[in-house]
Amino acid sequence: MLKDFYKLTDDYGSIEIKSNYHNHNYLCGHASGNVCDYAEQAVDNGLDIIGISDHCVPPVFPGAPYVLPDVIDSEYLPQFDKARALYGDKIEILSGVEIEYFEGYDEYYARLLKKVDYLVLGQHEYLYRGIARDSFFDGVDDGNVAAYCNSVAAGCKTGLFSVLAHPDLIFYRNPPVTRKVELEFENMIKTASDSGIAIELNANGIRNHGFRYPTDMLVDLCKKYGAAVVVSADAHSPNCICDEFTLRLAAYARIKGLNVIDRIKHG
Ligand SMILES: [Zn+2]
Ligand SMILES: [Zn+2]
Repeated sequence: MLKDFYKLTDDYGSIEIKSNYHNHNYLCGHASGNVCDYAEQAVDNGLDIIGISDHCVPPVFPGAPYVLPDVIDSEYLPQFDKARALYGDKIEILSGVEIEYFEGYDEYYARLLKKVDYLVLGQHEYLYRGIARDSFFDGVDDGNVAAYCNSVAAGCKTGLFSVLAHPDLIFYRNPPVTRKVELEFENMIKTASDSGIAIELNANGIRNHGFRYPTDMLVDLCKKYGAAVVVSADAHSPNCICDEFTLRLAAYARIKGLNVIDRIKHG
């Protein structure tokens, strides 16, 4: 849990959120709501920009029943057309996907980026010594952390991604924070910050994952490097986009003096 999180964010009711770029959709199979449902909630909550970024299958080791690239054309993008027709005069609606980065497949990501407005780098799975590992489920030592951090840093350097989702997900299984782990994580955050990608503080780590993320380490490094930061709901249901967890986290980021931005770069 972030240090003094609840104490510092008592006044969360007064916080204003203007944008949110990481939200899901019924198509991934473990979320509810369509793009119209999210847009309606976003309008009701006074947002200027709403981005939906459902999970998309990565080019290798598709471990989860995420959205396939052809379903993006047939069932995902049409939802945005409909939502823009209904709410486009009230709010900017951006299409995105959240996806793992694997080196050697930049063409795959570039093709996706032709379909949607932006890509979110969410490294749930990563390769360690050629084997797919999952940040949520597999045990972690400093070798895993290094492999994860190197993949994420390489993804940031491509310039293909606009948001780095939950960079501290690799701490989910509580690896011992050795000096090597600290250095690898710091190098990843510095690389991300230098690349201009927006680094995310993720409210779903509080809402659904026992507050195993975001971490103090991430907040401290974002502060140290003056990184561009976004606070995301990572909503898997439309009524979560401006819930207490998201509002408190937005308040916390500001109280900590992070460089919170409202607009990400996108196509
Ligand atoms: Zn999800
Ligand atoms: Zn994610």
